[in-house]
Amino acid sequence: MTPSDTQTLPARATSVRKETDRPTKPAMLRGWRRKCPRCGQGQIFKGYLAVNSACPVCKQDFTPQRADDGPAYLTILIVGHLMAPALLTVFVEFRPDPLVLFTIFAVGSVGLSLYLLPRLKGMMIGLQWARRMGGFGAEPDRAPEEWEDQ
Ligand SMILES: [Zn+2]
Repeated sequence: MTPSDTQTLPARATSVRKETDRPTKPAMLRGWRRKCPRCGQGQIFKGYLAVNSACPVCKQDFTPQRADDGPAYLTILIVGHLMAPALLTVFVEFRPDPLVLFTIFAVGSVGLSLYLLPRLKGMMIGLQWARRMGGFGAEPDRAPEEWEDQ
């Protein structure tokens, strides 16, 4: 073992601890369901995309979230990669009337975008919370049994 190995050991132990007290995958799945990444019960959003200032159940502060344009970028990425090949396939195979093709894909693209956008925003907030990004990292850790007294 070299001196540089011993210097990196505490950093690895810290990253393992952080992963276990805020697991990333469950937090992102809770965010996908538009629920609080911490308790999984309170709503993240107070409207379609407006984020609550805090979780109504566990009082987790959501003001440090910085999803910004990330969810919109991911939505465009996913919808574009699904709709463009589908549009080409439908056009080549079925040659529908252009107005029919436009109507189907316009409604499909808008509908899929409206479905994905809040879910991806919730996932992004869950990821930020789990990885302690931005202001989420400044919060003290508390055990779940201590959440009720907030
Ligand atoms: Zn909560």
